[in-house]
Amino acid sequence: MPKASPAAFYFPKPSHDHANCVAKALGEAEIACARQGAQFTPLRRQVLEIVWGSHNPIGAYEILDALAEGGRRPAPPTVYRALDFLQAHGLVHRIESKNAYIGCSQRHEGGESGQFLICRACGQTVEACDPDLAKAISQLAAASGFALECQTVELTGLCPICRKSLHV
Ligand SMILES: [Zn+2]
Ligand SMILES: [Zn+2]
Repeated sequence: MPKASPAAFYFPKPSHDHANCVAKALGEAEIACARQGAQFTPLRRQVLEIVWGSHNPIGAYEILDALAEGGRRPAPPTVYRALDFLQAHGLVHRIESKNAYIGCSQRHEGGESGQFLICRACGQTVEACDPDLAKAISQLAAASGFALECQTVELTGLCPICRKSLHV
């Protein structure tokens, strides 16, 4: 797990070079798959690229629509299988409250995930990975005799840009 303080996670500026985010994510995914002996097939790559189309979570049917625009509309199970693969390899995370997926920006392998700051106005979502928070959640579960299966935290609010434009 990467060590970083919670303050190190920023909402991307509208002016940022998003093509760079996409290129970086795809490059890292290739390396992660190779290291885990997993096949980064063209469809898996294409789905990951679509998920990385923005910093907003995207639903499976929107992914299907985007694939259809590219000339092929695979059956929904094909897309779900690709998403399962990407999720299992820590390349995307599922945002339960949105029933949607977001590209992983934290490079952790396996099923672990962190905390998501979700802007309710623009939808931009930032992934944080605060080890202290993760520890606190594990301790809470242990103290309650609770077998923790998923410790993803979804936080809803307003990102700095929307706060500014809404004067919050
Ligand atoms: Zn970006
Ligand atoms: Zn926002």
